[in-house]
Amino acid sequence: MIDLRSDTVTRPSSAMLAAMMQAETGDDVYGDDPTVNALEAMAAEISGKQAALFLPTGTQANLVALLCHCQRGDEYIVGQLAHNYKYEAGGAAVLGSIQPQPIQAASDGTLPLDVVAAFIKPDDAHFARTRLLSLENTHNGKVLPLSYLAQAWDFTREKGLSLHIDGARIFNAVVAQNTTLENIARYCDSLTLCLSKGLGAPAGSLLCGSAEYIQQARRWRKMTGGGMRQAGILAAAGIYALENNVARLQHDHDNAAWLATALRDLGVNVRRQETNMVFVDVPAEYVAPLSRWLQQNKILASVGPVTRLVTHLDVSREQLQQVVHTCREFIQAQY
Ligand SMILES: *Cc1c(COP(=O)(O)O)cnc(C)c1O
Repeated sequence: MIDLRSDTVTRPSSAMLAAMMQAETGDDVYGDDPTVNALEAMAAEISGKQAALFLPTGTQANLVALLCHCQRGDEYIVGQLAHNYKYEAGGAAVLGSIQPQPIQAASDGTLPLDVVAAFIKPDDAHFARTRLLSLENTHNGKVLPLSYLAQAWDFTREKGLSLHIDGARIFNAVVAQNTTLENIARYCDSLTLCLSKGLGAPAGSLLCGSAEYIQQARRWRKMTGGGMRQAGILAAAGIYALENNVARLQHDHDNAAWLATALRDLGVNVRRQETNMVFVDVPAEYVAPLSRWLQQNKILASVGPVTRLVTHLDVSREQLQQVVHTCREFIQAQY
């Protein structure tokens, strides 16, 4: 199967599995797992933060991040389509009694700071206490400009807010901007990143921040059931991913750009392509037949009126040529 549904479908390579097999382990809840400790130290170093925490998923990392920043009755300002508003089952509200204040993102994925400012609540008994601005980078493939992050950072300092970046795909931004993680993370108090997406690890996320913040996060991780024991097996995959699978994200971006051009050449309405994502308009009457056709040809995609195609380390250029060929056949069969 050629799987373009998400970069989460990537499987550990044999070299990654070998690194996992050789991992030294211990009980991480006691702080005894040397491989987890090494991964956390590595994440702290490359993000330029004092400390980092290894968690099973990005969803839990975001939840723990919010629980550290906000108390019961506090509020975070967040994008309407942000993962930690829309796609995490309302965890911050359900488990933290934290109120989200969603706002519309601009077309470049940023949250306009004048709009954010208008939603900050005055100190008044009527209102939740606005504590945090939460950004997502990349957001639907869009890379937040460094100039915007610098403005958002200054803005939050002025307004007395903290700034969190959900960087599930932050390394796609790092590679697209030809910069370092530290250069992006300098504009936030806390950062989450996923090892299990384009980086190809089977599981695992990291939360980075100050030593005091991560100490708190460790307690919330335990409380939310994320304290793992011999997690070094997973951490070894994470270390392998950070050492070997970051620079190669450029291939995924090049492949996505190639795919967008090839589909446009077929007359397909490609809305946009950024980093490793291509968004394609599919007329309503073609959604069901295209979905069947792709499946018959061993291609997995979440076909809808706007279809997202994601490139990753388990999709080669040759396979994308196969995808384009299959789409050409489908289009020709309609006429
Ligand atoms: C995937 C994703 C997450 C959550 O990661 P899981 O490991 O799937 O829980 C968080 N934020 C964004 C932007 C994501 O794309």
